[in-house]
Amino acid sequence: MKTVIHWFRRDLRVSDNVALSEASRRAERVIPVFIFEDAFRTGPDVGAARLAFLLQSVEALRKNLAELGRALIIRCGKSEEVLPRLCAEAGAQAVFANKRYEPYAQRRDEQLVGLLNAAGFGFELFKDAVVWEESEILTQAGKPYTVFTPYSRAWKARPLPPPKEKLKAVSQTSPVPSLPSDTLPATTEEMGYPLTQTIPPGGERAAQELLRRFMAGPVDAYAESRNFPAVDGTSRLSPHLRAGTIGVRTILAELNLARDKKAVRPPPSAGSVNGADIFLNELIWREFYLQVLHHFPHVTRGAFRPEYDRVAWSENQEHFQAWCEGRTGYPIVDAAMRCLNATGMMHNRLRMIVAMFLTKDLLLHWQWGERYFMRQLVDGDMAANNGGWQWSAGTGTDAAPYFRIFNPVTQGEKFDAEGKFVRQWIPELAAFPDDMIHQPWENPLLLSRSHYPQRIVLHEEQRPKCLALFKAVK
Ligand SMILES: Cc1cc2nc3c(=O)[nH]c(=O)nc-3n(C[C@H](O)[C@H](O)[C@H](O)COP(=O)(O)OP(=O)(O)OC[C@H]3O[C@@H](n4cnc5c(N)ncnc54)[C@H](O)[C@@H]3O)c2cc1C
Repeated sequence: MKTVIHWFRRDLRVSDNVALSEASRRAERVIPVFIFEDAFRTGPDVGAARLAFLLQSVEALRKNLAELGRALIIRCGKSEEVLPRLCAEAGAQAVFANKRYEPYAQRRDEQLVGLLNAAGFGFELFKDAVVWEESEILTQAGKPYTVFTPYSRAWKARPLPPPKEKLKAVSQTSPVPSLPSDTLPATTEEMGYPLTQTIPPGGERAAQELLRRFMAGPVDAYAESRNFPAVDGTSRLSPHLRAGTIGVRTILAELNLARDKKAVRPPPSAGSVNGADIFLNELIWREFYLQVLHHFPHVTRGAFRPEYDRVAWSENQEHFQAWCEGRTGYPIVDAAMRCLNATGMMHNRLRMIVAMFLTKDLLLHWQWGERYFMRQLVDGDMAANNGGWQWSAGTGTDAAPYFRIFNPVTQGEKFDAEGKFVRQWIPELAAFPDDMIHQPWENPLLLSRSHYPQRIVLHEEQRPKCLALFKAVK
């Protein structure tokens, strides 16, 4: 095969990229292409933060490719129109891409196979975004796993694949034809999505830097510190895993190195012993939810357990607005939501707290929260977001059901004991002492002077209402 188009999608990197490596191994000329699809700027889940991260990451990819003497060809439009035309223009025999797992993306790829083949071009997809995909880890009965622990056991029992080599500089003997390229919008505002959040930098180098920083220290204490939002204890790699600015094999190789180094030096504290193992588990959760999405695509439309589609959720729009804007009167919930609105990021512990609060205290449909998250998050990912929301609402794969209800006060006291995180995002509460920061209503005088709102619901009253709602459909 002489010329192959590598179509970059959720794999915006030149290292550890399976389809790109295959293209360079099998073709003399590889033409790197990115298609800015119309769908990126339409649809209910589009968010400025994710779009901005995408634009930054494509720009970083363009620069990385240029350093290798390769030009990234950008085309705006629909892939089903752009790709056959581009194959003909470039004299390419095939398009290579890495596989996507969302139901809509899989449907589109199936159509593309037919379309490109009919026009005389090949279309090959490769496993890249995950270590093990949906058909590789099944129960002994050949069924998909619906419980995480046995799934993760089966996942870990397999040998890990090493990272793929970085793309090489272009060969002088096989120059790539020069093709016209479109320019991307300079800002998300041009697309009708003004960016109001301060988001982390995109691109492959930013991802490598985060990985290096995390493996050089925080991974050791991860088992403990990952629960505390005021501590910089997690990798912050989720936007990169979503955009594909880092390969999962690269992360695993670095994790193994960190584990080996740890074997020769004593652990700094008892809590740090399992840091690498717990981190690995989180990466497996990501793959678990991707395979749930593949095998049970109905989760995008409703509860994993359909009986919970009958829950009579509240439709109180004022409560929903207060939750979105961080005005519920519960400091840990409000601080988390304000952080999300300002940065497009939210710590995992906080995601669980605010999701529980929306569903179990405000009794609002989890899909309202799911959608709001998708619009705000830099890392908004259909599988992980849906899995996280259904887990929190108690409608998902998890056997621990709806009666797991977080108390927002005790969660705050446990995971933000000194109120450091709360004070960062709710300056109105600065004057409250540590022992009252999570229940400011205990000091009505100070609260009335603070401009911080009263609670919109009382947790102790909502809890039994929530249990009754779920019991009614059991
Ligand atoms: C309600 C809710 C919504 C969520 N929405 C998303 C989402 O849209 N996108 C997203 O990537 N994650 C989502 N998560 C999972 C998790 O909160 C984030 O992955 C994590 O906070 C990202 O921070 P980090 O990269 O520092 O994670 P780390 O703790 O460093 O974990 C490493 C990686 O493992 C993966 N991971 C960690 N926890 C989970 C998890 N529970 N489920 C799936 N993958 C996980 C992520 O890719 C993450 O980058 C959601 C969780 C909940 C409870």
